[in-house]
Amino acid sequence: MMKTIGIIGAGQMGSGIAHVCALAGFDVRMLDANAEALPKAIQNIDRNIERQVQKGKTSAADKAAAMKRIATSTDYASLGTCDLVIEAATENEAVKREVFKKLCPALKPEAIIASNTSSISITRLAAATDRPAKFIGMHFMNPVPVMALVELIRGIATDDPTFQVIKELTVKLGKSAAVAEDFPAFIVNRILLPMINEAVYTLYEGVGNVESIDTAMKLGANHPMGPLELADFIGLDTCLAVMHVLYDGLADSKYRPCPLLVKYVEAGWLGRKTKRGFYDYSSEKPVPTR
Ligand code: NAD
Repeated sequence: MMKTIGIIGAGQMGSGIAHVCALAGFDVRMLDANAEALPKAIQNIDRNIERQVQKGKTSAADKAAAMKRIATSTDYASLGTCDLVIEAATENEAVKREVFKKLCPALKPEAIIASNTSSISITRLAAATDRPAKFIGMHFMNPVPVMALVELIRGIATDDPTFQVIKELTVKLGKSAAVAEDFPAFIVNRILLPMINEAVYTLYEGVGNVESIDTAMKLGANHPMGPLELADFIGLDTCLAVMHVLYDGLADSKYRPCPLLVKYVEAGWLGRKTKRGFYDYSSEKPVPTR
């Protein structure tokens, strides 16, 4: 029986995952290397569940109960009672390896580890743990409380019971699963990120400005968000990291990250989370920067 879920990384994804797990009745233990991220995550979760209360999607009593089920810590010992730990730390393989090195000794032997990585090989991450059979990719979409999909990725060693438990959990969280094989960036990002990268090339080459590119794809392809707006929403560092994984993992020049995307990341213009990316978010209405 799954009861307690640990979440590593209290950023935008970790907070969203904690939100849906707590509302679904699970006890949640959140951990971040940066102590300041934890109270911020709690604040964000509180605000986002409150929004659902206002819309009548959940009750004030369920919100209060969910918030009470979430505990935070910077100490891996706090994850000792977890039946499952979902890793949602920064999209960097070295960071994730370091996390697993600290996590494994703190866990119960039967605990499952899932990674929310957008693109890194599940088989390779699993090999960095003491339990490759109990390791799986559980790729939530952003924003987690809103998006219906979880991509499930089995590593080469993932066993059937682990896959079944995580598939059932996906349903309990109110989500639908799509199963992807363990190839670079899986399904969603294999298709989505090259489109975003191409939108950045379109900007870089002057084919259009930020506004015309986003308007073109919203009205011309019926996308709910333009690709540059979406890139800012995902985080430009994450977008670049996924393009690197595709480029390196598939060795095909068609995945070459756009130099303009690289430059924005080098400037620290990472999108919404730093208040500047393809749009400037410092005032009420986002303003295109090009
Ligand atoms: P984020 O930058 O918002 O949050 C990352 C968090 O990880 C930060 O709070 C950071 O302090 C923490 N962290 C960094 N190093 C750590 C360590 N060694 N130990 C513990 N915590 C550490 O990033 P995010 O957008 O939430 O992405 C997290 C993961 O989710 C990544 O693997 C990303 O690819 C994946 N993901 C992101 C999206 C998206 O749209 N942003 C969608 C699906 C999956």
